[in-house]
Amino acid sequence: MSADLICFESACRTRYPITEVIYNCPRCGGLLEVTGPEPSESAAGLKRIWRERRMSNAPLDQSGVWRYREMLPFLPDPADVITLREGNTPLLDAPFAARYGGLQRLTFKHQGFNPTGSFKDNGMTCGATQARRLGMKRVACVSTGNTSASMAAYASAGGLQPIIFIPHGNISYGKLAQALEYGAKTFQVEANFDQILKLVRVLAEELGIYLLNSINPFRIEGQKTILVEMMDQLDWNPPDWIVVPGGNLGNVSAFGKALREMVQLGLISRIPRLAVIQAAGSAPFHEFMQHPSRDSFRPVEHPETLATAIKIGDPVSWPKAWQEVVASSGIVEKVTEQEIADAKAAVGLCGIGCEPASAATLAGIRKLTGAGAIEGTSNVVAVLTGNVLKDPDYIYKYHTGQLTGPEGTPLLGAFGNQPIVVCNDPQKIATMLV
Ligand SMILES: *Cc1c(COP(=O)(O)O)cnc(C)c1O
Repeated sequence: MSADLICFESACRTRYPITEVIYNCPRCGGLLEVTGPEPSESAAGLKRIWRERRMSNAPLDQSGVWRYREMLPFLPDPADVITLREGNTPLLDAPFAARYGGLQRLTFKHQGFNPTGSFKDNGMTCGATQARRLGMKRVACVSTGNTSASMAAYASAGGLQPIIFIPHGNISYGKLAQALEYGAKTFQVEANFDQILKLVRVLAEELGIYLLNSINPFRIEGQKTILVEMMDQLDWNPPDWIVVPGGNLGNVSAFGKALREMVQLGLISRIPRLAVIQAAGSAPFHEFMQHPSRDSFRPVEHPETLATAIKIGDPVSWPKAWQEVVASSGIVEKVTEQEIADAKAAVGLCGIGCEPASAATLAGIRKLTGAGAIEGTSNVVAVLTGNVLKDPDYIYKYHTGQLTGPEGTPLLGAFGNQPIVVCNDPQKIATMLV
């Protein structure tokens, strides 16, 4: 069996050559996935090889994505790989967050330790590599967020030109700043997100530009390794729950695929349950999962949340996410802006920190343990998707009591930590420190 692109829809399952430049199934419009030959090594053999590679200085072995390349069987020539040594993110024990979340113990897998500060790097190393393998010279995406930051870095690192399209007036400065610094040609278009996506598809086709939006199946392949690395770090003992925020739903799709493949290969013995947490003002998948059926998915017209990385009304990967939540006996929950803000500060008080979207995980855990859906004795790993420095404006406002929700409602900082203005007087300051 060779590596192929295959339509995700069970009624279609048409195969296409891995080198075809397509983003949806040309026959039925379905999502695509990557499929390839199973590794010839045994599970024990793979585990040993992957451990041994941690001692190697070879770039591919040092990458926390390509170290697990037997799980990414689509690339014939390693010379095409563009790597910034992504992955290699830690598992961190967080006792304070555990108590806050109603658990005896909680572990964070912190994807914010990646080269550009989010899990997008795990996927982008594969997407950008596929672009180079296809002989593309330019890559593009529509995003104001972590996707642009990551794509810009990987394209420039690999000698490709990054091109970013953003809606006019809707900019997240921290992340856009990264994209500009990494050399992305950036177009601000007078149109909304969906219109720009159409425009970019036309341009991509005409000019031979490779698209690296969420829908790209090679990015999903790279994101699988977040869980392979997690299981490696847990000595292949799966936790009871893995908790992840949901926006476009690519990450949960990747996690589910990784878990199924790892069970298939005998790397782990069972599939942990997936919990997907959405922001209440941007929760079409939560709504859908109340009564799921093939044609009942309704996008949210005007998604609202300060957690901009999950402010997505029409997530492209919902059919895959649906399959994976069901396959893992998972659950989908939504949380308010206030719950996200306080959970984020609680992650900060562990000395860990994350961006707002990531904190939806802890807010969701607190809600789910409160409702009895997750037991307090469960073994839980929450995936923190982005770095604390992605959104400093949010943090400063939270701690100084100036944060307001999308509708202008004040968000009270339960863990607020205001700087104190003092005069240059050691005695006065000392009295404030007793
Ligand atoms: C992209 C992103 C998400 C959402 O992930 P999806 O795969 O779109 O569900 C969550 N958090 C951060 C920090 C992100 O960058």
